[in-house]
Amino acid sequence: MKQGSIVKVSGPLVVAEGMADAKMYDVVRVGTRKLIGEIIELKGDKASIQVYEETSGLGPGEPVVSTGLPLSVELGPGLMGSIFDGIQRPLQLVNQIAGDFITRGIDVPGLDHEKKWEFTPSVAEGARVEPGDEIGTVQETVLVKHKVMVPPDAKPGVVKRIEKGQFTVDDTVAVVEADGVLQEIKMVQRWPVRRPRPFKEKLPPVAPMITGQRVIDTFFPIAKGGTACVPGPFGSGKTVIQHQLSKWSDVDIIVFIGCGERGNEMTDVLIEFPELKDPRSGEPLMKRTVLVANTSNMPVAAREASIYTGITIAEYYRDMGYTVALMADSTSRWAEALREISGRLEEMPGEEGYPAYLGSRLAEFYERAGRVVCLGSDRREGALSAVGAVSPPGGDLSEPVTQSTLRIVKAFWGLDDRLAARKHFPAINWLTSYSLYADRLGEYFEKQVGSDYPKLREKAMSLLQQEAELQEIVRLVGIDALSPQQRLTLETAKSLREDFLYQSAFHEVDTYCSMRKQYKLLKLILRFHEVALEALEGGARLDQILELPVRERIARARFIPEDQVDSIDDIEAEVVRQMPKAS
Ligand code: ADP
Repeated sequence: MKQGSIVKVSGPLVVAEGMADAKMYDVVRVGTRKLIGEIIELKGDKASIQVYEETSGLGPGEPVVSTGLPLSVELGPGLMGSIFDGIQRPLQLVNQIAGDFITRGIDVPGLDHEKKWEFTPSVAEGARVEPGDEIGTVQETVLVKHKVMVPPDAKPGVVKRIEKGQFTVDDTVAVVEADGVLQEIKMVQRWPVRRPRPFKEKLPPVAPMITGQRVIDTFFPIAKGGTACVPGPFGSGKTVIQHQLSKWSDVDIIVFIGCGERGNEMTDVLIEFPELKDPRSGEPLMKRTVLVANTSNMPVAAREASIYTGITIAEYYRDMGYTVALMADSTSRWAEALREISGRLEEMPGEEGYPAYLGSRLAEFYERAGRVVCLGSDRREGALSAVGAVSPPGGDLSEPVTQSTLRIVKAFWGLDDRLAARKHFPAINWLTSYSLYADRLGEYFEKQVGSDYPKLREKAMSLLQQEAELQEIVRLVGIDALSPQQRLTLETAKSLREDFLYQSAFHEVDTYCSMRKQYKLLKLILRFHEVALEALEGGARLDQILELPVRERIARARFIPEDQVDSIDDIEAEVVRQMPKAS
């Protein structure tokens, strides 16, 4: 252990001298209270350290000790259901030990090292195993089977000993011999958070992550292993959409990273999330969720640690072959922390004071998402999707954090406070949002949902765009300037907005919509449009068409329960039956 001493304290940044032997990104203990920090710059024997705990009272001359190790997390059974701070201290446990405010310098391991888990081997003695191979399982929660894997840095070899039984994460559950060397495999792995966990191969995304939210799945889908960005002006429904994604996405594991700013923002997450129910199992959603959230008394630098801690935990479950969704709220707060630290380091500022490396940091984070072939001999696949919220000041999407993020992510869900003010939920703006996955997922939708699905989607989108143009004309010269066909377009677009895009998160049935139902609803609305156009051309009057009783049934179709979706076909037949025929 090498010891240096503090020369300067500047908020969360501490400069220490006598650190010539330390390495970049080493974890150090700072001052007599042993606060936890990380070296982020080394010049000669001077180290700049970002400290993850409140630095008040710290002064020059106090000791700084490098641990010689990078910032790492403990990975193993017990993660699920946990609430960690940015440096993986379990908040529940810390509260018990230190009260509501974390005592500085407190050492609490990420995992419970006393608890015994029932380990069931999946391989026999004599089996050949390589890194990534599953050697056993632990029922971590009622919803998650934890796969105990040969760690990535172990050597391939032969299982010499393995047994079923009750073990703590530190006990040896298997011994693997490689070239005469015995390697003890334990249930805990330590992994440096800034280093992406390895996999065999990255695969292109081919399947959607189905969220049950129509505007997302149909118009702006995200792939399993994909990336998306969502801006969240206050009151625009960001929390509701995050909860909906967590509850309904067809993924195995949720990792939620809260980088909130105001203390109470964070507390909201800590209170609300544990109350959510997993709608499919009826169990608390926390049984397959890990929360990473900084408390209000941690300095901004901890936000950076929480981003890395969260994604490393998410990668670990991906490595087991699971589909994981990670949500980070909000990455803008992380970027602001980078800006603050960069300013204190007196680095050359880039746009709006953000460091020049903002874009590359964000890219490194989102690049850890993806669909992969995991390590191990069974070629299992895992996927990690990342959804980052941004909070652009004043909703101005041209600011650097949003712009840098949009250059990286492939889907953008533009939450719009004007739509929210009009009570259109989810307030995702269909004209500004986009998904670069839509084309690539087209084949999946054609095969799994309906051969004409991509066409319907295109048609609907074009009607919504025409609506915007027509509304402009109406504003300038009045509705009388429009032909009956154009007025029909406005009516259909309204129906698309109100009967399809609008989705109530709080309605028992409407809260989730299967792909099959999304398809049938879209087909119904567009069928009405098509048949009505024909009727108009055949001489029918628009007001006559708009008064058809079947329109009421179209408006209520989204409330049809999943087990009765076929009845949407009956409404379609009814459309044709009721439509005035050409005379
Ligand atoms: P934010 O987190 O962006 O400040 P919230 O997610 O709390 O906003 O949403 C604000 C309010 O908008 C909610 O309390 C709710 O009444 C309404 N809302 C948001 N999304 C929906 C939705 N999908 N369905 C119905 N109401 C919604």
